Amino acid sequence: MTDSFNPAIRTLMGPGPSDVHPRILSALARPTIGHLDPEFVRMMDEVKSMLQYAFQTKNELTIPVSAPGSAGMECCFVNMVEAGDKVIVCQNGVFGGRMKENVERLGATAIMVEDEWGKAVDIAKVEQALKDNPDAKIVAFVHAETSTGVCSDAKALCALAHKHDCLTIVDAVTSLGGSELKVDEWGIDAIYSGTQKCLSCVPGLSPVSFNDKAIEMIKNRKTKVTSWFLDLTLVMGYWGANAKRAYHHTAPVNALYGLHESLVMLEREGLENSWARHAHNHLALRAGFEAMGLEFVVAEADRLPQLNAVTIPEGVDEAAVRSRLLNEYNLEIGAGLGALAGKVWRVGLMGHSSRAENILLCLSALEAVLSDMGANINVGVTIPAAQKAFNA
Ligand SMILES: *Cc1c(COP(=O)(O)O)cnc(C)c1O
Repeated sequence: MTDSFNPAIRTLMGPGPSDVHPRILSALARPTIGHLDPEFVRMMDEVKSMLQYAFQTKNELTIPVSAPGSAGMECCFVNMVEAGDKVIVCQNGVFGGRMKENVERLGATAIMVEDEWGKAVDIAKVEQALKDNPDAKIVAFVHAETSTGVCSDAKALCALAHKHDCLTIVDAVTSLGGSELKVDEWGIDAIYSGTQKCLSCVPGLSPVSFNDKAIEMIKNRKTKVTSWFLDLTLVMGYWGANAKRAYHHTAPVNALYGLHESLVMLEREGLENSWARHAHNHLALRAGFEAMGLEFVVAEADRLPQLNAVTIPEGVDEAAVRSRLLNEYNLEIGAGLGALAGKVWRVGLMGHSSRAENILLCLSALEAVLSDMGANINVGVTIPAAQKAFNA
């Protein structure tokens, strides 16, 4: 006989999922009701309007896709891109590469604008690509690149794209709720996010939002959307404003209770307060890392507060450190990916994970493990440095 699965209680400070607040976990355990039940429909409407707040948009088509962030990405591309189209794809980390995959699998051409990992998307290079490709239809980029912790200038990139008659697809999986993001003010046309990063909900849902220009582009398609499940013209019959709530697929009822609760918590805290909390806590973690002697990969002006990529001290077996943190302290931090594999750790301060007790645990556990392994770090200074930053 197999026993019930009872996971260890971990502190999640990697690139996602982040710590899920107990209030959200208990919301998940509420009784399942039918997904066409009027009570559930009322809850769906509240989720939509709270998502509009989180995204800072009035877009009617603002819904959670019933699948993780990668499906939100695919939803944007599969609806807006057709075979033969040209899409400018900015890549400065892992996720831009996935955008390219999406574009190419749809039979469209990805014009790549590449920047070094850890650098923000270079606006001048994007402008050149737009000039060289006047027939491009869309500019796609990652706002908060989780593989490196860099933030790109979404507002400037959207303004530039519009100047060249392109629409924009923006990956905001890691930015939503954690740092400034203003869909309407910045003119973002299509955007997708995830629930397990700064919203601190469970993984498996992807909030998306499309403005009127994006919807018009979808309505004017020459060909059918190649995915049945993600075809927005069908999904809108279920989630749309005056939709008949026709059966499309069975909504993940309990996961949506969780999202509802996390959005209630975000509303209560206030979006700007949440951004400020992430920024303040980042400064404390940063002070602690720098006192120890670890360095940030990303230039200060472009750093994400919710994802901190730092260098590994000389001669340290980075995987051994992560496994000791997990086994001895129940603490998860992230490894480097792609070009940064083996060179950095990625420490997330996302949503409910962004709090003082996590920061002090991370800094003290890392100091203990690194000094035990004989690494060349400054000892005894990390906690006072973080404490000073908390008080600032
Ligand atoms: C996590 C992440 C994704 C993918 O989300 P999943 O929920 O893992 O599918 C996409 N883009 C970025 C920037 C992410 O951080």
